[in-house]
Amino acid sequence: MAHYLSYKYRICPSTEQKERLENIFVQTRYLWNRLLSGELKKEKKKVPSEESPEPDFTGLPPSIRENVLKSFRFTLNHHEAETLHFHRDDKRGGFTCYSEPSSFRLHEPFADIAGIPNILIILHREFPEKRRPINFTVTKTKTGEYYISLLFYVTPEPPVSSPKRFLGLDYSMPYFFIDSLGRRLKYPNFLEESVVRIKKMEISISRMKKNGKNYEKKRMQIARIYEHSAAQRRDYLQRLTTYLWEHYDVICVEDLDLIEMSRTRKSYARNVYNQAYREFIEYLSYKAALKGKTLVKVPRYYPSSKRCSNCGHINNSLSITERTYRCPRCGMSMDRDVNAAINILEKGRAMFRHVKDFR
Ligand SMILES: [Zn+2]
Repeated sequence: MAHYLSYKYRICPSTEQKERLENIFVQTRYLWNRLLSGELKKEKKKVPSEESPEPDFTGLPPSIRENVLKSFRFTLNHHEAETLHFHRDDKRGGFTCYSEPSSFRLHEPFADIAGIPNILIILHREFPEKRRPINFTVTKTKTGEYYISLLFYVTPEPPVSSPKRFLGLDYSMPYFFIDSLGRRLKYPNFLEESVVRIKKMEISISRMKKNGKNYEKKRMQIARIYEHSAAQRRDYLQRLTTYLWEHYDVICVEDLDLIEMSRTRKSYARNVYNQAYREFIEYLSYKAALKGKTLVKVPRYYPSSKRCSNCGHINNSLSITERTYRCPRCGMSMDRDVNAAINILEKGRAMFRHVKDFR
């Protein structure tokens, strides 16, 4: 199976380089909109008037032009032209480029990108050595930061032949998770801090006059915090999941419906934490596929909290406020969440064996 992995880095173009990037954004947007207009005209549909003036296309690298044409044709094969959107001129921008030796070249701390030489690139994680990306995408965020995502083909490692290192994780507030060894991982401070800051700002912006100068400024500030905290979160989760797969062969988690959980609980902080945990599971899952390891998802309705991890007794009268599990049958007493993590581990281990026996 083909596996693709994308690496995202921040780039810091100079004023002149920014202008050249902006130019490519304008040209690709214009090109897309013109293709879409052409399609709609064929079907005798109304089209909005073109942006003016028309950009100068001479500086557009052929590989980028080719990519717009290809992605337009691809999209048109899957959707009706009517349902497609024109690309608006908002503060964001982006383009994708097939990678040719001439379109991307790294020479630290710079990279030549789409015909623009020597753009500063921040390699906060190691660059996959000696490999050529399949393609790359340059994007600009709302707050004017530039990023490049490079897509690589990777060969997955063969499955671990006799997995010995198992771990169970229980997702339980106020911790990020509690594992079957009784370790508790706290939420990283930055996550809690960003929740508090964004909340405060949302309150102050709600009191402001809409569309005023200060309102715009505040909106930008909020967008910046969002972007920053998302970048921090991704970085943290990357390191955490790498660490876990370095130490374990099979990790068992609950198969939670976090989207549904966010919908029913209205707390903003709760939603942020659920989002982080969802990303955590995503990262664990794709990294497992690459490393030949296994992520087992224990069914949502498995009674991991109510079951005694020592004798298997199900205590249906256990209330949510009881922090210690006391088994009426065997007398075992254990922290509620650790008991749940052990149950998730044991259920996951059984499921893993079952699947393996049928391979
Ligand atoms: Zn028991």
